Amino acid sequence: MTIKYKTIKDIKIMLSQKEISNAEVIQEVYKLIKENNHLNAFVTLNEDNSIKKAEALDNKPSNLPLAGIPIAQKDLFCTKGLRTTCGSKILDNFVPPYSATVIKNLENAGCISVGKTNMDEFAMGSSNETSNFGNVQNPWGENLVPGGSSGGSAAAVAAGIVPAASGTDTGGSIRQPASLCGITGLKPTYGRISRWGMIAFASSLDQAGPMARTAEDCALLLNEMCSHDEKDTTSLNEDIPNFEENLNSPLKGKKIGIVKDIDLSSLDDDVVKIYEDSLKEFVSLGANLVDISLPNLSLSVPTYYVVAPAECSSNLSRFDGVKFGHRSNNPKNLEELYVQTRSEGFGDEVKRRILIGSYVLSAGYYDAYYKKAQQVRRLIKNDFDSAFSDIDVIMTPTTRGTAFEIGSKGSDPIQMYLEDLFTISANLAGLPAMSIPNGNLDNKPTGIQIIGNFLDESSILNFGHMFQKSTNWHMYTPEGAKQ
Ligand code: GLN
Repeated sequence: MTIKYKTIKDIKIMLSQKEISNAEVIQEVYKLIKENNHLNAFVTLNEDNSIKKAEALDNKPSNLPLAGIPIAQKDLFCTKGLRTTCGSKILDNFVPPYSATVIKNLENAGCISVGKTNMDEFAMGSSNETSNFGNVQNPWGENLVPGGSSGGSAAAVAAGIVPAASGTDTGGSIRQPASLCGITGLKPTYGRISRWGMIAFASSLDQAGPMARTAEDCALLLNEMCSHDEKDTTSLNEDIPNFEENLNSPLKGKKIGIVKDIDLSSLDDDVVKIYEDSLKEFVSLGANLVDISLPNLSLSVPTYYVVAPAECSSNLSRFDGVKFGHRSNNPKNLEELYVQTRSEGFGDEVKRRILIGSYVLSAGYYDAYYKKAQQVRRLIKNDFDSAFSDIDVIMTPTTRGTAFEIGSKGSDPIQMYLEDLFTISANLAGLPAMSIPNGNLDNKPTGIQIIGNFLDESSILNFGHMFQKSTNWHMYTPEGAKQ
């Protein structure tokens, strides 16, 4: 009995039928982590604690919904007593005194946090190449990036080490790596999951979410991850549905918005064909395709690259060598302490964002850049609001292509920024969106993105689940199709 490539649902059944013990599940996770050491998916492991928790469950069984389910946590979430680096040198010795609300929610539901996953530094990147702890390798190919910034989480699930991982998504960091690694990843509505204890990148865009093999598993995780939290002032105080309930509703008569403003001609023909085949599959399941217009969509990437750096320049000012994390040796005075600590502690991409952010917020340029970007952001949101008056979900490809080679995007950051061409608008508008595997090109997975209306995760999970019931792309692993 192995747990490799198994879903949460599979492992729950194996545990309940006593085909495997809780301790055996966790021991196998660590065996798989070691076998896959070359992926560099984990920064810190939580082995002794996890094994103890599993043994306790074997001694005293629990009926918590996710009892004994191993989960890898992105190293951006504070975990009490367990090192949390956010992929940065500036936090490489930081051990938080508390856990993020979403980590507590998952652990209170019975999940075992087996370790912290590698990521782009402060979640800035689309390839995991900005991590202070080195590249993560995509399990689908030796020199391929896993995407980013939740690259370690995506690689750990794709390699079958764990059935689930947490991720965060500010402009695409759950969906883009999910797509490049052939797994399912969901960014909920902004505010659904508490941001308390998540290390902030861009506070008005950041949102945590589940990464797993299937939409069904994402629903199980989301049920536990969401909560209203008074410690986060942007946490929504809205009813949280049971996300499993709607998974099987028939798609007959439901409407999928197809954005006519997206120019697919810049994409590889094969990627477009896979995308169009998936749309046909949805039509054969009874859904209708409806043309919609999002006229300001093309402004998403430039808008994001003003708003996100502005917010990050402010959020990252707290890393100054005084309160926590790395501190430069022997500064001559306070100013030198700040300057040296930050120069040594941050990588190039983080420094670039802080510079851009400080510039667009400066007195002389605020109106021209930051204020303008906020205005355009509102227009993008309005476009979505009017589109959703007549449709259930919107679909686009998740990314422009499949996983690319490590180092291949060269030194031009704009090429990397365009990785999130299709994902960023959902963050700007605060909408839920998910990527599911929908094909395979030269043995590399592709993904399709399903965007939902505000608070309507249930519909995107429903579309994703119905697709996964009638196709087997989510069953493919780097070793071939799973039986
Ligand atoms: N790739 C985008 C960026 O670099 C998005 C990252 C994210 O979603 N955290 O900012």
